[in-house]
Amino acid sequence: MLGFTLSEEQLAIQKLAKEFTEKEIKPVAAKFEKDEDGKLAEAIFKKAAEVGILGLPIPNEYGGSDASNVECSIVLEELAVGCGAISTSIGASWFGQTPIMMAATTEQRQRWLPPLTRDGNLCCMAMTEPAGGSAIENPHMHSKTIRTIVRADGDDYVINGTKIWPSNSTNSYLYTVVATVNPELGDEGSCLIVIPALALRDFLLANQLRKWEWMLTSTQRYSSIMSQCPGRTCWGRSEMAPSYCNAP
Ligand SMILES: Cc1cc2nc3c(=O)[nH]c(=O)nc-3n(C[C@H](O)[C@H](O)[C@H](O)COP(=O)(O)OP(=O)(O)OC[C@H]3O[C@@H](n4cnc5c(N)ncnc54)[C@H](O)[C@@H]3O)c2cc1C
Repeated sequence: MLGFTLSEEQLAIQKLAKEFTEKEIKPVAAKFEKDEDGKLAEAIFKKAAEVGILGLPIPNEYGGSDASNVECSIVLEELAVGCGAISTSIGASWFGQTPIMMAATTEQRQRWLPPLTRDGNLCCMAMTEPAGGSAIENPHMHSKTIRTIVRADGDDYVINGTKIWPSNSTNSYLYTVVATVNPELGDEGSCLIVIPALALRDFLLANQLRKWEWMLTSTQRYSSIMSQCPGRTCWGRSEMAPSYCNAP
């Protein structure tokens, strides 16, 4: 028989998220819409890292709590009671870091994950493109609709394309970008590239979207991504990265 009650551990996590929402989010939630430079949001993310919320799904050995999807959902639900944008930013950060947990080498995880769990930094998943997000998400399209092109340049990758709607676009530490070597190659040419914020060039120059609400979750329309990615940090099935799990 299936049980739908939360375990004691899950109830404790729910309590922690509820208390965090009451203490840290609700008292300042009304000010978020005017938080144009993101300082208020930054402080909340740092506090979320201190109590272990930001690194919830990250394995223990990288400073996280190794929580399940159910536990992560419980936490996002509680945070959203205080502010939907805080909950979205944290959930979107987990989305962006998932490929790192799935495919990065131990050395890459040791380098990238602790700043996310420990220091209150966010991650951004840049997947959607102007021609349509559903087509990129749809497995039946076999990645043929991706128009962000990556090419090798010496020891680096050069990425060129346009992305829209990525949450945490202006304030992330890492950017996970969905790209392709050649759209005609379909899944075989597709890849995920992790770009540290410091390596981004035009990425941050495009205009910030003024949303009706959720101003705290930064969302941007990129005019273009032109990034020289130092070192090869790419996972895909293209000839540049022969298999998804064998990150160079
Ligand atoms: C607040 C917010 C945050 C977001 N955060 C991120 C993020 O962090 N990273 C990121 O990469 N993207 C993000 N997105 C983008 C989101 O993933 C896309 O909006 C979504 O994938 C849909 O793509 P689209 O908007 O281009 O719509 P389209 O793909 O153009 O679809 C438009 C409409 O057509 C329908 N449709 C499309 N294809 C079909 C079909 N084959 N059959 C029937 N109906 C169809 C869709 O259901 C939809 O109603 C975010 C969006 C929002 C609103």
